[in-house]
Amino acid sequence: MPIRVAIVGSGPSGFYTAEALAKSDADCEIDLIERLPAPHGLIRYGVAPDHQTTKNVARNFDKTAARDEMRFYGNVDIGTDISLDDLRGMYDAVVLAIGSPEDNKLGIPGEDKQGVIGSAAFVGWYNGHPDFVDLAPDLNSANVCVIGNGNVAVDIARLLVKTRAELSTSDITNDALDALQASSVTDVYMLGRRGPVEAKFTNVELREMGHLENCVPQIDGSIIPDGVPEEEEMSDRDRRLREKNLGTLRDFVGRDPNELEKRVHFEFYAAPREILGDDKVEGLRLERTQVVDGRAVGTGEFFEIETSLVLPAVGYRSSGLEGLPFNDDWGVAVSEDGRAGDGLYVVGWIKRGPSGVIGTNRPDGQLAAKQIIEDIAEGSKPGRAALEAALQKNGARIVNYDDWQALDAHEKANARDGAPREKEITVAAMLGVLDGA
Ligand code: NAP
Repeated sequence: MPIRVAIVGSGPSGFYTAEALAKSDADCEIDLIERLPAPHGLIRYGVAPDHQTTKNVARNFDKTAARDEMRFYGNVDIGTDISLDDLRGMYDAVVLAIGSPEDNKLGIPGEDKQGVIGSAAFVGWYNGHPDFVDLAPDLNSANVCVIGNGNVAVDIARLLVKTRAELSTSDITNDALDALQASSVTDVYMLGRRGPVEAKFTNVELREMGHLENCVPQIDGSIIPDGVPEEEEMSDRDRRLREKNLGTLRDFVGRDPNELEKRVHFEFYAAPREILGDDKVEGLRLERTQVVDGRAVGTGEFFEIETSLVLPAVGYRSSGLEGLPFNDDWGVAVSEDGRAGDGLYVVGWIKRGPSGVIGTNRPDGQLAAKQIIEDIAEGSKPGRAALEAALQKNGARIVNYDDWQALDAHEKANARDGAPREKEITVAAMLGVLDGA
């Protein structure tokens, strides 16, 4: 009997696991289960809409989905439609590739005020994620504070200041594009609690901020160190990357703030301490820091930025799934290098936390496939026959890969001029397209 495997989550780590299993010599039946009608997870809903080349990997995912061993079950929510325990009863192996969909908290007073929007929600909104279509961020603020110095913070800052022309070839939704173009935003503050050497953004992303049509980068040159301190321990590659970032930041020094209509201010050594205002955000209070033994330590000097929009981009977490051993402090599954229980495996961000690039998930998928083949010599469970019977009983509307490809074609046909697609942004609308509504 084949080894019957259910993979939950059809983002990069789910697809890489499916690919590794399908290409192995083992006899496997692989069912890829996805909560939404559309596959590809972070590729569709996380990668910036103006970084289309990063999304090309979805073509490889389509090839994997077309393999004989594979079936796609979209619009099926594990935890709601079927429990994890039931799924484990149906399949020889269950692989959870469910990511880190929630925002880390800042843990400062005022975080619950209206006008504080975490990056998961904000990025989800401009990328047309069904969970965030009703976000309606109030962009009527000249200043916007983006907290964090990772690539997500840079993505958000860039999307806030790009022109309509610059976004014309992106797949940002029309609603988000119109809202951003109508915004009052003129000054975006990118706030790092540590310094330029410690910033996590990569150089290509940083450089892009110096070549925008209507936005000029601003930085106080006196805070940029001459180089990465010799005593800092890191790989040669890391050192080179950080030196490059310092060079790019130096190129930003002295740019005329009035050269263009908008500005992105790179503000380092600035830790958020309190969100100000009554019910709504009116400002952000920060403390100057210095970096001691790699940590940001407050100096006792405070300053404020007037704003009604604060966007923390300080990393993501998961809150787990019933039946999955979970470390709530870290927001990741408890596993032994991916083995989370008898026939239960985790891959990607739910295993490692939210780090790395898309390709970082590939070795994860390869390892999980190897573990499954080592652990399970021969399949003994019913797999998709049991899944389909249970879903039929629930009256679920399963979206298969042919359905997805029909939806994909519809979205491409509906794109505004020059754009790759116009996403359907609610589950009802996606199903409506498929069911001819
Ligand atoms: P990230 O790279 O971990 O950056 C998180 C940032 O938030 C860091 O600067 C961190 O500062 C800061 N932070 C955390 N807690 C904070 C707090 N309480 N107060 C102030 N600042 C705080 O995470 P990310 O930007 O969400 O990205 C997630 C992953 O996706 C990363 O691996 C990223 O490279 C990847 N990604 C890649 C691309 C791309 O390749 N173009 C695009 C988007 C995302 P400290 O360093 O001081 O902790």
